[in-house]
Order: sequence, then C-alpha cells, then structure tokens
Amino acid sequence: MTDIARLATIQEYFKSGATRSYSFRKEQLVNFKNVLIRNEKEIYDALYADLKKIPEESWFTENGLLIQEINYMLKRLKGWMKPIKKGANLVNFPSSGYLYPSPLGVVLVIGPWNFPLMLALLPLVGAVAAGNCVVLKPSEHAPATVDVLKKIIKEAFDEKHVMLVEGKGSEIVPAMMNNFRFDHVFYTGSIPVGKIIYQLAAKEMVPVTLELGGKGPCIVEKDASLKVAAKRIALGKFSNAGQMCVCPDYLLVHADIKDKLIELIRENIKKFYGENTEGAYGYCKIINENRFDKLISYLSQGEVIAGGSHNREQLFIAPAILDNVSLDSPLMQEEIFGPILPVFTFRDKGEALKIIHRNPEPLSFYVFTNSKQKEKEWIEAVQFGAGCVNNTALHFTNPHLPFGGIGQSGIGSYHGKKTFETFTHWKAMMRTPVWFDPSIKYPPLKGRLGLLKRLMR
Ligand code: NAD
Repeated sequence: MTDIARLATIQEYFKSGATRSYSFRKEQLVNFKNVLIRNEKEIYDALYADLKKIPEESWFTENGLLIQEINYMLKRLKGWMKPIKKGANLVNFPSSGYLYPSPLGVVLVIGPWNFPLMLALLPLVGAVAAGNCVVLKPSEHAPATVDVLKKIIKEAFDEKHVMLVEGKGSEIVPAMMNNFRFDHVFYTGSIPVGKIIYQLAAKEMVPVTLELGGKGPCIVEKDASLKVAAKRIALGKFSNAGQMCVCPDYLLVHADIKDKLIELIRENIKKFYGENTEGAYGYCKIINENRFDKLISYLSQGEVIAGGSHNREQLFIAPAILDNVSLDSPLMQEEIFGPILPVFTFRDKGEALKIIHRNPEPLSFYVFTNSKQKEKEWIEAVQFGAGCVNNTALHFTNPHLPFGGIGQSGIGSYHGKKTFETFTHWKAMMRTPVWFDPSIKYPPLKGRLGLLKRLMR
C-alpha cells in the first residue's frame, strides 16, 4: 500500500471513533510506556550511534523525559477530558456554557535530528492522549534512531492508529501534504523549513504548530552568582555538543566580570569532560560532515580563547569560547547549533539590547542576576518564547510549563497539558433549558429596544 493509501486507512480509523474513549487512550499510553522500557537498550545504542549520546544523558533528555511525560499525562488525562464549565450572559438566561474537548483527527508530527527520539515522540504522546491518529516523520539524519522508532511504533500501536513514514523530508512531506489534508501539522526544526511547512499547510488551511530555533541570548549581570552561572551556562551550551534549540547561543556579560566568568566556564568544561574532550565519556559528536564544516567555519570568525580543537573523522569539536567576534559575521546572524560560545560585553542594558535586537524573537532567553528588579526588567525588555532566570535550557524538561517560540522562533506551544490542548479542538457549547422561554427575543421586537438595552450592556 502506498503512504497516501495508508493515510486514507488511518482517516477511516479515526472516523470510526475508536481512538476517542478514555480507556483506549489510557491503554495506548500505558502500552507505549512499556514498549519504551522494554526497548531501553536498543534506544541507548541508537542514540550513541547517531550522536554518541550516553545512556545517562539519554535518560535525562530522551527516553526518561518521555516516560516522565507519559506518567504526567496518565495522572491527569481523565480530568483533562472532562468538559469545562463556562457561564452565560443575561440575555441567554438560564443557559449555561461548556467547552467539550474533541480530538482533531489525523495529525502529522515532523521531528528533527538533535533529540531524534524525544522530539519525535513528545508531541506524539500528547496527540495520542488527545485521541488523535498520528503520522510520524522522524529525521533522516539520525538513521539508527529511525530504525528504533520504527520498531517501537510497530510494537506499540496498530498501524491504523499511528504510522511512521521515513525518507527525505523535502520529498515525502510535500508528497503527503499535497495529497492529503491533515487536521494538524506539528513541526520541530529549522526556521527555513518551518516556512515551507507553513506554506504547504496554508493551501488547505491546515493548522500548524511550528517549534523552531533562533539565537537565544544569555545575560550575566554584575550581581549574578558567578560560580553557579558558569556551571549552568557550560551545561546548557555544551550538552549534546551544543546541538540544542534551547542552548544559550551567545553570552552577554557585564564587562566588569567577563574575565572571571570565562575562567569559571573553562574550569567547568574541564570538570565535565576532563582535560581532553576528544573521546570523553558523555561528550556528543556533531551529527554529520555538513554541520561539522559549517561549525568549523565559525571558529575563524573570532578569537578562540578556549577549546576549539577538532577532528573531522570523529565529527568532534571541543567546547569553544570565542572573543572579539564581529556582530556582522555569519556566526552572529545564524543560529550556531554547536559547541561554540561567542562572548560580548555590556555596561548598560541599552547596549545589550542593541545586540539582542539584531536577532529578534529568540526561542529562549536566559538572565543571571540576584536582583528581582533586573529579572523583571529583562523579561519585559526582550520578546522571546520561554526561558530561565539563573539557569539555562532546563525549563524544557518541566512539564508544568508550556514550551514554544514567538514570531520567528515559532507558532504555538506544547508540553504537559498544553500538548493535550494543542491536539484538541474545544467545541464551545451552550445548553439552554426548555422550562423557561421568555418571548422577549422572538419577533415582533417592536417597542423592546429599551428592554434589550437593559439586558445587553
Ligand atoms: P530541519 O528543518 O532540517 O529538519 C527537520 C525535519 O524537517 C526533518 O524531519 C526533515 O526531514 C524535515 N524536512 C527537511 N527539509 C524539508 C522540506 N523541504 N520539506 C519538508 N520537510 C523537510 O531541522 P533540523 O536540522 O533537523 O533541526 C535543527 C533546527 O531545529 C534548529 O534550528 C533548532 O533550533 C530547531 N529545533 C527546534 C526545537 C524546538 O523545540 N523549538 C527543538 C529542536 C530543534
């Protein structure tokens, strides 16, 4: 059967109503969790093959995060599925309102390569919890993970309910979207491809969630706790070898503390990965030669003041800190998405804002300060998706917080309850009892203007 014919089968299955009940959704989530647990070793092997990711980090950022999300949903799903009570205005007395949650239908989830398991499955879990059928398109750039995804999706779901399609995104995504109307498309990846997806979706007015990227600034104020800041910046920047949408892309540090902070970041890199990062346990590789070459070109766009050694055969780049980078260099116009941290200084907020506004609406924003006043001022001064105070990147792992971008960094958000809401249509309903039916709303209305004005103001 071709992929398009299979899509029609999935749609029929959704229309049968089989995916709607609480018991079905719960059973699917429990079963999926068990499949993830059963395949733990295969998952670790695949993530190591694609990114040299170690089991400890994989649990923290891939399969463990997914299991946490499934447990979070299982605890709350029954409550989320209940209609939400709303009121009614005087003119509709004695009616009441409510929001009735309904699944959207057949949704397409497109994943990137940097967290190739988690970013494909986190939206999928919410889509299933919300009662949808799912077509999953993982990234072809993480082939070992695609193989393990194929295995676990097959083990966990009926193919009429969840189907995985593989291949080159630029070919199969348009082929599907031009021949089948999805009820929602959930895309995680780069801004340029996000624009292509948005255009494909617009033809049939398909709603989208776009989880994109951007250059996330990291501010360090003079009053920050520097030791903690350095540790958390090093973790956020060099985990996954910097291939994270929520990485601090560049550092904006108060001029008076720059040298001290850089020294502390250097020390933390050593503590995390040892003297020689090459071959260090837990330090990831760059995904492929294309990305490696791009990142190496950035190294010559500033003065390397720490790290930066590299090995193309091993797709290895040591955590690097760059000084004296021109704001006009490509490095400061593109999302870095690798283990390279450019550093800039500021003396007042206006100076820092000028730099930030060159790349507006980032996905993430980080500020290190011990002043509540400064914290508030920074949050208000910059337009961004989500972020942290005195931390980096880890807000992503908190299911209580919705995660998403704004403007160039994306449309919509997800995680926890927000994912359920993203894949749910809320039918807004008004129920009107029959025991009371005043004639005021029925024609002829002549002479009732005053009364209507009193009822509706
Ligand atoms: P990408 O845009 O190259 O690919 C993502 C997906 O799109 C893949 O599945 C790919 O097959 C598909 N694709 C590629 N070209 C396509 C086309 N022409 N038409 C349709 N589909 C196509 O992104 P990537 O390189 O895998 O990921 C890196 C980017 O993703 C970075 O910009 C990063 O910031 C962003 N990202 C965002 C988040 C987030 O949650 N906001 C998370 C991770 C990564």
